[in-house]
Amino acid sequence: MVKNASVHIDEVKLRQLMDVFLTENSKLNLTAMRTPELCWPGNILDSIAFLQAFETYPDLKKTKKLLDIGTGGGFPLLPLALCLPDIQCIGVDATQKKIDAVSRIIVTVGIPNASLVSGRTESLAHSAEYRAQFDLVTARAVAPLSVLLEYAVPFLKVGGLCAFWKSTKIAQELAATADAQKMLSAPYVGNFLYALPDQWGERTIVFFKKTAETSSEYPRNVGVPKTKPL
Ligand code: SAH
Repeated sequence: MVKNASVHIDEVKLRQLMDVFLTENSKLNLTAMRTPELCWPGNILDSIAFLQAFETYPDLKKTKKLLDIGTGGGFPLLPLALCLPDIQCIGVDATQKKIDAVSRIIVTVGIPNASLVSGRTESLAHSAEYRAQFDLVTARAVAPLSVLLEYAVPFLKVGGLCAFWKSTKIAQELAATADAQKMLSAPYVGNFLYALPDQWGERTIVFFKKTAETSSEYPRNVGVPKTKPL
């Protein structure tokens, strides 16, 4: 019997994460959300909204390894790692100074199941250490959906899920993924609507499922997925 991932929301620890993040942010400008009033809903609540989707997508409970691509200042990576202590959570980003800042946050807050790798997804996805190793790939505010699919799907095991944070206006972006879904064998499986407090409004997390091995030609060379989306 495979043990399901437990979900543990500890508000005190999440507030501590926010405080440590805001201190790093004041030095490095990782995000425009510079105050607790902005950072709590905009980064912390937005990241953990995903946990509500665990009931809609029971496969998520089987996750052992999560990769957050373009993690930047550590979102959604760090709040998810705090709330999902059984899941090994790895963040990737191309900018070394962001990786260094997020490493300091991980040590200061104490998040033993979170770690980082510096580099471009297009390169890392061809290394045996990362290719086809993950049950779940997340991304927020990184690229359009068709580009995200090429970045993310090669990292997934067959049967794994991608979860992409978006605004609710995704119809056009989703329609533009038709070719990428076919070429990467990763059909759209649905989206999860959620609401943040007050004026933050409604948002959505878009899910795709990998149904077959990925051809070794994907992802294409660094920069190509973005300039010539599938
Ligand atoms: N996910 C974070 C940061 C978004 S900013 C948040 O929601 O707050 C987008 C980040 O993606 C940047 O830090 C950038 O360096 C990274 N990024 C974009 N394309 C990338 C790629 N192909 N490989 C690795 N990192 C990438």
